[in-house]
Amino acid sequence: MNPVQGASGSQDRAALTQQVKQASDIVAILGSYLTVYPAGGAYKAICPFHNDTRPSLHIDPKWQNFKCWSCGKSGDVFTFVTEFEKISFIEARELLARRAGINLQGSPVENQRRGQMLDAMKWAEATYKECLLDNPMGERARLYLAGRKLNGATIRSFGLGFAPAAGDWLVRAANAKRMDMELLREIGLVALRDDGGYYDRFRDRVMFPIRDARGQTVGFGGRILPDSQFAERGPKYYNSSETPLFFKKELLYGLDVARNAGAKEGYLAVVEGYTDVMMAHQLGVTHVVATMGTALNEAHVRQLRRFVPKVTLVFDADAGGVTGVDRALEIFVGCDVELAIATLPEGLDPFDFLVAQGAEPFQRALGEAVNALDFKLSQLLTKSGDSLDGAKRVVDAILSVMALSPETQGQAGQVKQELLITRLSQRLGLRQETVWARFAELRQAKKKETTRTPQVATPSIESPAVEERRAKPAKPIEKELLQILLAEPALIGEASTQIFPEEIEHPGLQQLLGGLYRLFGLGQPPTVDGLREVVNHAALIEWALENQEIGRMAPDKGAWLKDVLTRFRMDRKELVKKKLMDRLRAAKTENERLDVLREIQDLDRNPEVRAPE
Ligand SMILES: [Zn+2]
Repeated sequence: MNPVQGASGSQDRAALTQQVKQASDIVAILGSYLTVYPAGGAYKAICPFHNDTRPSLHIDPKWQNFKCWSCGKSGDVFTFVTEFEKISFIEARELLARRAGINLQGSPVENQRRGQMLDAMKWAEATYKECLLDNPMGERARLYLAGRKLNGATIRSFGLGFAPAAGDWLVRAANAKRMDMELLREIGLVALRDDGGYYDRFRDRVMFPIRDARGQTVGFGGRILPDSQFAERGPKYYNSSETPLFFKKELLYGLDVARNAGAKEGYLAVVEGYTDVMMAHQLGVTHVVATMGTALNEAHVRQLRRFVPKVTLVFDADAGGVTGVDRALEIFVGCDVELAIATLPEGLDPFDFLVAQGAEPFQRALGEAVNALDFKLSQLLTKSGDSLDGAKRVVDAILSVMALSPETQGQAGQVKQELLITRLSQRLGLRQETVWARFAELRQAKKKETTRTPQVATPSIESPAVEERRAKPAKPIEKELLQILLAEPALIGEASTQIFPEEIEHPGLQQLLGGLYRLFGLGQPPTVDGLREVVNHAALIEWALENQEIGRMAPDKGAWLKDVLTRFRMDRKELVKKKLMDRLRAAKTENERLDVLREIQDLDRNPEVRAPE
C-alpha cells in the first residue's frame, strides 16, 4: 500500500516528507541542477528564478535552505524542486524520494528497515569504539595507532574502533542487547555459520567507520593488526561487503568531514587510504577524502561535484604513471568538473609524506597541482618531441580519450569541449579548426556511421528546413561534380568559372564545393586535408574522403567534368524554361505572351545559361 494514502495518512505523510528531506542534501540537490560555487562554508549559484548574471543564490548547508539576495526567492529543497521543475509538492517529494532510493511504492516497513540498518550501524560503531578506547582488549590496537602517529582527537573524530579476535565478540554483544541478528547480517557485520549460528566478519581489526556525505555510518573498513594471528591469511584491509547501505564504488572516505573545508578551499583533494585522510586532517589539511580502494570514477566525481567545482587527484610520483592519468582524463572530459593532478615527490604516499615533512609541503604540492589535460600533454610531449608528427600523435591520443567519453550533455558539456580543444590547439600550435575536425572524425569513427550521403550533425544553428534538406540524398550530378574535383583538384579552376556553390541544392555538398573554391582562391591546396580547415563538419569530411576514392577510379576526369558541366547547363536550361513556361501560361496580355516566347527562343539558341536568380 502506498504510505501516502494510508489510514493514518497525515502522520505517515509527515514522516515520509521528513525522511525524504533528510535524505536530500540541499547542496547536493541544487548542485545537480545548477553549478554551485563554494563561498565561505556556504555555497552560491546563478539564480534560476530571475535573470541573474552574478551568483545571487545563497545555499546554506547548515540550515538546508536557499535564498536569492536579488529576487528574494527562498525556501528548502522541496521549494526549490517544485519551483525549478514546475511540479507540485507531491511530485517533488516523489522525485526526491526516488533520487534518495526511498521507495514510495514499497511498504513503509521497507523504509523503516533502512532506518533500522542505520541504527544498527550506529550501535556497532559505538561498540567497536568503546572497545578501542576503554577496553583492555583494545590495547594492541591503541599501540598500533599510536605507532602510526594518529592522535586521540583524530581517532575520536573519525570514530575508530576495534573488533577483537574472538570471532563471536560482536555476536555476543548483540545478543546481550537482543539485537536483530539478521539485521546485522544484512549490513555485513556478521555471517551465518553452517550450524545456523552467527560469527563476526571482522576479527582482530582496527575498524574505520565509513560514512556517507551526511555523516551516517554505512559500512566499515577493517585494518588487520600487523601482529595478528590472522595477518597471514586475510587481506590487510577488509571492507564491508556491498549492502543496501554500502555502495563501495560511490563512497568517499572523509567526505562528511571534508566537504565544508573543501567548500572554503574551492576544491577537494582525493587520496587513496583512510590513514592518508586522517593524517591530513590531523595536520590541519582538512579538504582531503579517499576512494574506497578503487580508482576515481564518475560516480565519485558526481558526488564531489555537488560540493566543489574542482577535484585534485593526488598521485605518487611513480604511481601517477599511465593508467591513472588516462582514466582521470576520461573523467575530466565527461564530467562538468575541473580536475587537477598533484604529484608527491620521491614516490611517497600521502601518509608517509605528511609524517615526514608536515602539512606545508603537502599543501604546496596540492597548490601546484596541474590541470589533468596539461598533465597528460606534458607526459605525451616529453615522449614525442616537438615535431609536427609528434604533435599529431599527441592530438590523436588526447582526442581519442575525449571521443571515448559519453556524448557530453547540454551546454556545460559543449563549453567543456571547447575549452579542451582551445587549450589543445594552443599548446600544440595547431589551428582550432584542425583539432575540431580531427575530433569530430574520431568521434564519427567511433559511431561507425556509414551513410554515403552526409547526414545532419551540425548542432542547433540550422533551421529544421535545412536539416531536412541535408538529410535528403544529394542529386547524382552534384555528387559527381564533387567526386571529380576531390579526386582531381587541378580541375577546380575550370569548374569554379561555370558552377556556383549556390547552385548545389544539398547543403553539405554546397559547403564542400564552397570550401574547395575558397582554398583554390586562397592558393592553398584544395584537398580533403585543406577542407578540414574550412569545413568544420566531420560527416562531410568523411563523405569527401569516401567520394574522393570513387572519383579516383575514373580514367578520364577531364572528360567526365565536361559531361557533368553539360548536364548542369541542361538542367539549368530546363529550370529556366520551366519558369518561362509558367510565365507564358500566366500571361494576361498578348504582348506579355510574345515577350516570354522571345525569351524562350533566346534560351534555345544560347547554350550558356548562368545560374538562375
Ligand atoms: Zn533570484
